[in-house]
Amino acid sequence: MTTDVTTPAAAAAPVYPKLALIGLGLIASSIAWATQRGQLAGEIIGYDRDPGVRETARRIGLCHTVADTAAEAVADADLVIFCVPVGAMGAVAEEIGGALKPGATVSDVGSVKKSVIDAVGPHIPEGVHFVPAHPLAGTEHSGPEAGFAELFDNRWCLIVPSEGSDAEAITTLRRFWEGLGANVDEMDAEHHDLVLAVTSHTPHLIAYTMVGVADDLRRVTDSEVIKYSAAGFRDFTRIAASDPTMWRDVFLSNKEATLSILQRFTEELFRLQRAIRRDDGDLLFDYFTRTRAIRRGIIEAGQDTAAPDFGRGGPRQPKAPDA
Ligand code: NAP
Repeated sequence: MTTDVTTPAAAAAPVYPKLALIGLGLIASSIAWATQRGQLAGEIIGYDRDPGVRETARRIGLCHTVADTAAEAVADADLVIFCVPVGAMGAVAEEIGGALKPGATVSDVGSVKKSVIDAVGPHIPEGVHFVPAHPLAGTEHSGPEAGFAELFDNRWCLIVPSEGSDAEAITTLRRFWEGLGANVDEMDAEHHDLVLAVTSHTPHLIAYTMVGVADDLRRVTDSEVIKYSAAGFRDFTRIAASDPTMWRDVFLSNKEATLSILQRFTEELFRLQRAIRRDDGDLLFDYFTRTRAIRRGIIEAGQDTAAPDFGRGGPRQPKAPDA
């Protein structure tokens, strides 16, 4: 059954006549709101496997239509974006492969690219364009009510063309993401997975570990850790509150790159450990001077705020590191 929630927007010049979003969580709902804001699609159709999520999506007017099957959602769609956890991408592609319109573009927002390309690629029929992508924006919240139109504003979206991706399909998808507010770059899958292992996946694992360690010291957690939680630990807890399904899939899908970065991380940790034990203040000072310069570079590149305490005094929380 399909329920019309609102009348399709009469977009002036939509990039795609019909957009289908599969998996209506944080990222899909943000895409839906930003698409509506920019009138980037003539019609938005959504589908989620959870009937409760579908009901919520209808109630909040996320899409023009919320379909009750994935095949119904993608039929006739010009752009189909998979917004499900990385581990579910292959199954979704298999489910809808036969229902795709010739000439349509299939994309995704998965945080890992090589495993998604391997899982989805074989199910994309001849005449349909597969152009994987990954918006580097997110929060620790999940679900259809977590999204907001500004999520992608001035953030990066990496387009990761798979073998034989059509040039025109790439250009149109780029225009769509720019319309959502993002800056767009292209990268190959292997490099993407390594870069994200450094900038996002390993830091998340470290945050999970740090919060886990604090929890192990229960006598502390019950009192001081929470009460005196300063920015460092508080930021770890925010990252460690990220969706367990999504992050389980990220680590299992980006195994090689994450393990390689973790190996490097462990070696550095031992180096600092030794410097502390040996009272090697020079090493610590030089190390921290170098990392401080990296932080300055991130601010100069406009990727974060220099405000004290990450601008927490302001009305809006900063975005969490993306996936
Ligand atoms: P989310 O809020 O948890 O939403 C995912 C939705 O997909 C859930 O409602 C889930 O339903 C549904 N789903 C799962 N399997 C499905 C299937 N086979 N068919 C239809 N729907 C299905 O997740 P999200 O944060 O939006 O993340 C979605 C994707 O974006 C992931 O691949 C993630 O790697 C990527 N991403 C996330 C972030 C971030 O910071 N969150 C940033 C960039 C990219 P159930 O709850 O029933 O499983």
